[in-house]
Amino acid sequence: MRDANAAYYGGRDPLGRAGDFITAPEISQMFGELIGLWCADLTLRAGAPDFAYVELGPGRGTLAADARRAMAKAGLNPPVHFVETSPVLREKQRGAVPDAQWHDDVATLPVDRPLVIVANEFFDALPIRQYERTGLGWRERMVANGRFLRGEADCADAIPLALSDAPLGAIVERNPEAEAIMATLADRIAAQGGALLAFDYGYEGPAAGDTLQAMTAHAFADPLDAPGTRDLTAHVDFAMLAMIARAHGLRPSPCVTQGAYLTALGIDARAAALARANPAGAQDIETARHRLVAPEAMGRLFKALSVRHADWPMPAGFS
Ligand code: SAH
Repeated sequence: MRDANAAYYGGRDPLGRAGDFITAPEISQMFGELIGLWCADLTLRAGAPDFAYVELGPGRGTLAADARRAMAKAGLNPPVHFVETSPVLREKQRGAVPDAQWHDDVATLPVDRPLVIVANEFFDALPIRQYERTGLGWRERMVANGRFLRGEADCADAIPLALSDAPLGAIVERNPEAEAIMATLADRIAAQGGALLAFDYGYEGPAAGDTLQAMTAHAFADPLDAPGTRDLTAHVDFAMLAMIARAHGLRPSPCVTQGAYLTALGIDARAAALARANPAGAQDIETARHRLVAPEAMGRLFKALSVRHADWPMPAGFS
C-alpha cells in the first residue's frame, strides 16, 4: 500500500473533476477559510500568535492558501510548512503558496515555536495492516502475486483487547505509520505548544471491518488491481489517534462530524456572505455548502478531531 500510493501520488495530481477524487478544499474556498479562522481564534486565545502553520499532505495547496488569507484578516501571517512526498503535488503547492517550506516527513518541522497542524485526507492514505481472526488465531492478511493470502505468524499482539474475541473471519486494521506520526507530533506539541486538526473518512474504534478501498475516476475499484494507478485508502480510527495523543500528554477534543464542525464554525454565514457578494454564483455556493455538510454527502462520513497542548483552550467547533 505504501509503495502503490507513493507511485500513485508521485506521478500525478489526482484531485478534481478530471482526476480520481475531489476533496473538501477543492469543493469550496469556505473549507480552508473556516480552518484559517479556527487557527487564528485558537492561537489568539492560547496567547501564541507566533506559531507555524503546518499541513500534512496538502494536495494542491488550496486549503493552505484559503486558510492563510483568512488568518491574514485576523492579523496573523504564520510561516507555512508542508509535509509532502509527491514532486508533482509540491509543484502545484508552490503555485498556491510560493513561500512555503517543504519537508519529506514530520521530523524536520521547526522546533522553535508552537505548531498548528492541519491534515485533510492525509492519514487515510497511509499504509494499513489487516489481521483476520482465523480458526488458528489472528493472522495477517497479506498480498502476493495480486491476491490476498494469510500470513503464518500469530498476530494476537496487534489486536486491541476489546476485539480479541471478535468472530471468525473478522478483520481488524491497524495503521502503524499514522500511529507513529501522531506520536511524534504529539511529543512536539507537548514540548512546543500547538494543536493538530484532522479530517478523514473514519470511525471511533476499536471496531472490526475491512475498509481498504481504491478510487479511480470517482468510482470504487478493486484495491489489488493495477497498483500505483489508483488511490488506496482506509478509514481512520480517530479513537486510536486520540488515545495516542493523550498518552503523549495532549488533550483530544471529541470526534465530531465534518458537518457539525463546519456548521459550528459558521459555514452558513460565510456561504450567505459569499452569495451576497456574487449573486450569479449563489446556486453554486449553496451546492458546495450542502456537499460539505449534508449527512448524505460528506457531512457525516467525514469526521473532525483535534488534539492540543494541555494548557491550550478547547478549539472552536467541537462543543
Ligand atoms: N489535503 C489535500 C490532499 C489530500 S490527498 C486535500 O484535501 O485536497 C493526500 C495527500 O497526502 C497528497 O498531497 C499526497 O501526496 C500526500 N501524501 C500521501 N502519502 C504521504 C506521505 N507518506 N507523506 C507525505 N505526504 C503524503
